Amino acid sequence: MADRLKELERADDSITLRYVDGDELNLPYHELRAWCPCAKCRPRWKDPHRRLGLAEEVKRLRVEMPKAEAVGRYAVRFTWTSGCSSGLWSFEHITDIALNRLEVDH
Ligand SMILES: [Zn+2]
Repeated sequence: MADRLKELERADDSITLRYVDGDELNLPYHELRAWCPCAKCRPRWKDPHRRLGLAEEVKRLRVEMPKAEAVGRYAVRFTWTSGCSSGLWSFEHITDIALNRLEVDH
């Protein structure tokens, strides 16, 4: 199972996650971004009533490859030209998105 992230590769419209045990996951940027962990976005996807609005908004944005900067050995900071540059994306969070494991409040 995808547990320890070994490398993260950016393509034009998606990101590929490679794990130590050989698992590989692919995640389109628009999907990644709909779960942005920054202080502005997090309360929106945490709220089931606002979650859809955020997803729609992200879909309307031009697909862009974010800048990625490693933060220690457990996280990465993505910088998107169309806003959202302060979020710290832990490998765990990214894996949760790729595996559809994130919980929203009910
Ligand atoms: Zn954000």
